[in-house]
Amino acid sequence: MAASRLLEVENLYLYYFGEKGIVRAVDGVSLVVNEGEVVGIVGESGCGKSSLANAIMKNLPRNVAKYEGRITIDGQDIVTMELEEVRRRIRWKKISIVFQGAMNVLNPVVKVGHQIAEPLIVHEGMRKNEAFEKAREIMSLLGLPSYVFARYPHELSGGMKQRVVIATAMITSPKLLILDEPTSALDVSIQAQIMNLLKRLKRELNLSMIFITHDIALSSDICDRICVMYAGEIVEDGPADYLLTSPKHPYTQKLIAATPRLRSDVKPLYIPGAPPDLTSPPSGCRFHPRCEHAEDVCKSSTPPSFVLDGGSIVRCWLYGGNDGKGPRT
Ligand code: SF4
Repeated sequence: MAASRLLEVENLYLYYFGEKGIVRAVDGVSLVVNEGEVVGIVGESGCGKSSLANAIMKNLPRNVAKYEGRITIDGQDIVTMELEEVRRRIRWKKISIVFQGAMNVLNPVVKVGHQIAEPLIVHEGMRKNEAFEKAREIMSLLGLPSYVFARYPHELSGGMKQRVVIATAMITSPKLLILDEPTSALDVSIQAQIMNLLKRLKRELNLSMIFITHDIALSSDICDRICVMYAGEIVEDGPADYLLTSPKHPYTQKLIAATPRLRSDVKPLYIPGAPPDLTSPPSGCRFHPRCEHAEDVCKSSTPPSFVLDGGSIVRCWLYGGNDGKGPRT
């Protein structure tokens, strides 16, 4: 049976006015999240991952220069929807986000349980007692002891604070949870606990997630599909197992080769150069200044997306038409 589509992003653009010109943070991105699926967005810092998350939430800064495309969830298009409607009908109810570093912005003078219950009181008009009861239920689901309800954030460990942030995002039972680098501020053992928690939520609640990370190894732990992002574009999108064992785009290959391995003598390789300035990305394929396979066509023409046999979609001239399927429509 075909998986049912929850979120569809088509040809999405988010540009900002910057000091040096227009920053092309999200540049024609398309992706799909099915019900119960975890989709990873992976790439180096500054490639547009967090901007993509903000675009999906219609969480736009004042200096936005272009916001176009389609983002549909349950048949409703977020891009064309009035912001007030997005606040009322989409945020918290259908999509929640755990922002990068969110555990550091918990209100220091409000008890944790009250902070978890707040979205129900503010966004759903629920009575306090009922919302507190729901907060206790979600805390228990996320492995937070009941005494935490009456504690203040400074009394909690980093791992507990991150559970609180996830509980706050989940209390309204959204269909999709976006997690932006949810473990980057945690030490390795706590990171493992949070990853196990997310895997359990996926398994037990069939929760759909977008998991944003710079760490492709971490994405392998939870993701069903992985989208590799480079300079505002998705350059490879495929089933996680296939993409990790048979990466096609040279950038994906380099990301994987840069990952340290515990049970191997193979040394991690660094990726030469640096990600481009998004105010003036390179012509043609944006990866060409760092790619050892680059040819003239790569410098002059932007590669379209090619669909490969393993189910991957790859933007690279190395795959142009070789499989006879041609560019993705
Ligand atoms: Fe390298 Fe060319 Fe493929 Fe870009 S299109 S990744 S430059 S081979």
